[in-house]
Amino acid sequence: MDATEFKEFAKSMIDYIGHYLETIRERRVLSTVQPGYLRPLIPDSAPEKPEKWQNIMEDIERVIMPGVTHWHSPRFHAYFPTANSYPALVADMLSDAIACIGFSWIASPACTELEVVMLDWLGKMIALPKEFLACSGGKGGGVIQGTASEATLVALLGAKARIIEKIKKENPEISDNDIVSKLVAYASEQAHSSVERAGLLGGVCFRCLPTDNEYKLRGSTLEEAIQEDRNKGLLPFYVVATLGTTSVCSFDSLEEIGLVCQKEDIWLHVDAAYAGSAFICPEYRYLMNGIQYADSFNFNPHKWLLVTFDCSTMWLKNPEYIVNAFNVDPLYLKHDQQGAVPDYRHWQIPLGRRFRSLKLWFVMRIYGIENLQAHIRNQIAHAHEFADYIRSDSRFEIVGEVIMGLVCFRLKGSNEINEKLYKNINANGKIHLVPSRIKDLYFLRFAICSRFTQSPDISFSWHEIKHLATEVIASYKK
Ligand code: PLP
Repeated sequence: MDATEFKEFAKSMIDYIGHYLETIRERRVLSTVQPGYLRPLIPDSAPEKPEKWQNIMEDIERVIMPGVTHWHSPRFHAYFPTANSYPALVADMLSDAIACIGFSWIASPACTELEVVMLDWLGKMIALPKEFLACSGGKGGGVIQGTASEATLVALLGAKARIIEKIKKENPEISDNDIVSKLVAYASEQAHSSVERAGLLGGVCFRCLPTDNEYKLRGSTLEEAIQEDRNKGLLPFYVVATLGTTSVCSFDSLEEIGLVCQKEDIWLHVDAAYAGSAFICPEYRYLMNGIQYADSFNFNPHKWLLVTFDCSTMWLKNPEYIVNAFNVDPLYLKHDQQGAVPDYRHWQIPLGRRFRSLKLWFVMRIYGIENLQAHIRNQIAHAHEFADYIRSDSRFEIVGEVIMGLVCFRLKGSNEINEKLYKNINANGKIHLVPSRIKDLYFLRFAICSRFTQSPDISFSWHEIKHLATEVIASYKK
């Protein structure tokens, strides 16, 4: 394919994408295909002879679209949002064209330098303490990880390196293995599964602590667990506080947890994967009170800030522990400017990294802070609209508090009837949501996900749920 043909192909694809997104409301949100649907639709082996790009374009509707769940449909309410916007799509095209692997500064200076500045822009937008920002002139700074799961693991490894260094200073004869066998990390039982997984991957014990009635981890619970473990001779070293839990979007008490971590000299990581985007609006920043105690902070612009996957932004007050923990420095990766600017390969698990800061740059410039704030506020307003519908019908109840763009709800009554309602909603396929369970309580989660969602979509979804609830209740009365 030469450049002329590339331009024709790409223009045709851009037209297709524009049309797909403009008309996405008309598609059934949930695919109806069965496992194995795709194999019979394409040949058994790769083609021997080159094909025309037009043939590929024709196959998108025939082969791919039937098996797509339309995450950007205004009637997609499952999980949490994943972002999509035109500036981010265009930025990814440029990133793919430059196609550099920005593991060190010299590997493509713009890739590193734009990332450093974008993380400062974004850090300022959410009012992070200046110790997290590279522009403050201290040690701190930000990095783009692929996912929040990676950020939690990277922070855990940094915390592990820090405690090993500290214990060895006090007790030079103790072995690394002895220390590691005594390490304990903590998070709430509502923390995302990736947090517990970070413990497994990092080879340390993770304790999931109970929450209060509002599904928040409180400082006193953490303090008690730490004392209990210290009394057993164990070494508490890492705490993850969640701002915006996955099940109900509750917020751990960061101020209380932070004070405990400060007193106990424990690394505090804040996982705000979904809700962190809302902190660009000053009225939601009360939820991050206590952030000054954190050592690392992470949220996913690729969830709620219109930057396409993957873009998980992480800030560290002192990246040295992480940089040193992962520092393997073969000659072929060295360069003369080492030390003057970050070499991001030391801040992450893989070596390779894409030019992801372009997406942040394009999105922040094309929208401006005011339109990004409007996006967040609009989505939260839609969540409240939906919550009002739920409250207007005495057969339903809300679970947890509606603070962000997530409403958790259930039919008053058994879990069984709610499971049936859930099954019928997804079987109908007009809207899509997922359930969750806390202890013995089964409920449904309605997340505002698409940037195309408008009030009539909320009303549509509510009427669908209400209608199916009436049917389910009637079937139980028979
Ligand atoms: N933390 C929280 C609170 C989440 O809600 C999620 C995913 O929804 C994650 C972490 C994991 O995110 P990622 O897929 O970026 O690893």
